[in-house]
Amino acid sequence: MPSFTDLEPSCRTDVPLAEHTWYGLGGAARWFYTPRGEAELCALLARFRTSGMPWRILGRGANVLVRDQGFDGAVIKLVGDAHACIQIDGTLVHAGGGADFTRVVRRSVDHGLGGLENLAGIPGSVGGIIRMNAGGRYGCVAEHVREVRLIGPEGGTETRAARDIGFRYRHTDLGGCVILGATFALRRDDRSELRERFKRIWNEKAAAQPAVSARSAGCIFKNPRGEAAGALLDQAGLKGQRVGGAEISSRHANFIVAHPGARTADVLELIALAKDRVRSKTGIELELEVEVW
Ligand SMILES: Cc1cc2nc3c(=O)[nH]c(=O)nc-3n(C[C@H](O)[C@H](O)[C@H](O)COP(=O)(O)OP(=O)(O)OC[C@H]3O[C@@H](n4cnc5c(N)ncnc54)[C@H](O)[C@@H]3O)c2cc1C
Repeated sequence: MPSFTDLEPSCRTDVPLAEHTWYGLGGAARWFYTPRGEAELCALLARFRTSGMPWRILGRGANVLVRDQGFDGAVIKLVGDAHACIQIDGTLVHAGGGADFTRVVRRSVDHGLGGLENLAGIPGSVGGIIRMNAGGRYGCVAEHVREVRLIGPEGGTETRAARDIGFRYRHTDLGGCVILGATFALRRDDRSELRERFKRIWNEKAAAQPAVSARSAGCIFKNPRGEAAGALLDQAGLKGQRVGGAEISSRHANFIVAHPGARTADVLELIALAKDRVRSKTGIELELEVEVW
């Protein structure tokens, strides 16, 4: 490990990533950094680059499955006010990369700004939501992003317009970047109608999926073109299938939930089994939406 002693206050070692992911599964990160501001974050990334240290950035861990052996490198998490500010300026909403996305949605709705309520019930940080181009039946975050401030792979800070982000279905070209913040361009709308819409979409999601509080990472697989992964898994008879403490939800077959005692290895075995079944029944190769670390 190179000498990062000046950054020690922001670093802990052998931190269980289960405590930082929705799944609550997986081993520890060798180093876990919570930089106190942008300058420290830039310094950290520069040192990772020169030392060749493998690193990852974690949001709320709502789309990440950490292997049981953990991650032998550095994990960065943007926590604290320095990374979580939310500011409203007319119809623009500026939010830090570490801000809780549901808070951003609620603040916008409370200010009578519409657009983000379509993404009610999607857990994550602003950084994670943008990186994944999160979305669902009522659209995706790309539709509301004006620009993103980031640190690029070479360490430079830049502001990138939405059209230069490579937004596609659950994809952006932002791998290797750290999202520092984003500006959302919203529209004025009636506050009580927005609240109603938020509630309706939230309830719709809650009725069709396992509880948000359940240990999962949302949809395990991406929808293949013209198909719904959940329907393919259901038709393959996979609802309720278990391996160890992991189970394919009987509410929504594209969710794998972790029960007490589950290990990541159980989830991975169930993923392999589900892929095999769907492939042999339909010839379709399912692609993971969840990231395995
Ligand atoms: C109950 C439940 C329901 C869900 N429903 C939906 C849904 O309807 N639609 C949907 O699209 N997803 C859904 N998801 C998945 C998840 O909410 C999204 O993928 C979300 O974008 C994850 O955000 P996060 O902050 O938790 O990212 P993480 O899971 O922590 O990370 C995801 C990716 O983003 C990267 N990342 C995180 N922060 C930053 C940053 N600051 N800069 C650069 N990269 C970063 C990580 O490195 C990783 O590559 C659901 C998940 C759960 C648990």
